[in-house]
Amino acid sequence: MTDVTLQDVRKEFDGVVAVKNIDLQIPDGAFVTVVGPSGCGKSTTLRLIAGLEQATEGTIQMGDQEVTGVEPKDRDVAMVFQNYALYPHMTVRRNITFGMKSAGDFSDEEIDRQVEEATAVLDIDDLLDRKPGELSGGERQRVALGRALVRDPEVFLMDEPLSNLDAKLRIKMRAELAKLHSEFETTTIYVTHDQTEAMTLGDRVVVMNDGRIQQVDSPQRLYDYPETRFVAEFIGDPAMNMLSVDISRDGTEYEAVGPSFRIPLPEADGLETAAGAKALLGVRPESLSVADSADRSSFPAEVTVTEPLGDSLLLECRTGDQEFKLHAEPRTAVEPGDRVPLTVETERLHLFDPQTGEAIY
Ligand code: ATP
Repeated sequence: MTDVTLQDVRKEFDGVVAVKNIDLQIPDGAFVTVVGPSGCGKSTTLRLIAGLEQATEGTIQMGDQEVTGVEPKDRDVAMVFQNYALYPHMTVRRNITFGMKSAGDFSDEEIDRQVEEATAVLDIDDLLDRKPGELSGGERQRVALGRALVRDPEVFLMDEPLSNLDAKLRIKMRAELAKLHSEFETTTIYVTHDQTEAMTLGDRVVVMNDGRIQQVDSPQRLYDYPETRFVAEFIGDPAMNMLSVDISRDGTEYEAVGPSFRIPLPEADGLETAAGAKALLGVRPESLSVADSADRSSFPAEVTVTEPLGDSLLLECRTGDQEFKLHAEPRTAVEPGDRVPLTVETERLHLFDPQTGEAIY
């Protein structure tokens, strides 16, 4: 069992608090991605787990062992970095076996067997005699993965391992990483700033911002039930629209009132306290659509930009001083400057407290 548990972990660098007392539990065998904007503390969190940084406060546990003060070499982890960190003067074979040979724990036969197995899985078995300078970026990244694989660690730690590859290769390697994980089921913690990578690879996604964990959830739940405004706007492309509204109450009915719309709100516990105050109405671009004709459930908006994407038509619209985006049916006959009636899928609305950013729902 190698679950990884961070308890109240804090990391300060000369006055900069990179990680602000986080708690995180990564189950044995999981593929967990950590995502967030630049500087939010992702790499520091990973380096703390690797032992490359020491926590200022808190504890880190792997399986039933506390590893907080343990040296990196004595933690059973293998790390794959963004820049591969290969030795340029060594062949691929030597790069892959270097760690095993210097550890001295393996026989030559065992090393050969491991190399054969890992390089076959990664499809680099015919590159063993080349040096890193004679490889493409994708091949170099596979060698770095091979070096991690042969160590057969309890935990893989990956810091943006695909970010130096071009878009096409990144997608291919992403699929290969997913396949490798389903084969070996090694606990994997994977840092990225790319939400697509985080969502497609992780069975659980940790969203960080400003040194704190915002939410830990499955990719679909993060998208459907963001707990904060930050998560709502970070996950999804184009981002969730945020409209500034007043919450009005009429008996048991609630409405979000904006410059040119009154949108009925589904019932929820937090609505009563929000009534009479301002809130942020979160609407995903696919939850808005252009109505055939104006009626009681629609509201008017002006189209400002049209972007045909093939499978949908992305519209930028405006109502009052509020701007938002929506996916309309492809070939919808609208042009910038047109006024169109829009309808909202009210079951898929989100509402946030404008002060705290916490979701009301
Ligand atoms: P990126 O996606 O840009 O790599 P990140 O989310 O991985 O960002 P970290 O590298 O963990 O962010 O950095 C978090 C914060 O800690 C940043 O403000 C950074 O400047 C600071 N920081 C990281 N390492 C050090 C260090 N060795 N000394 C001082 N400050 C540091």
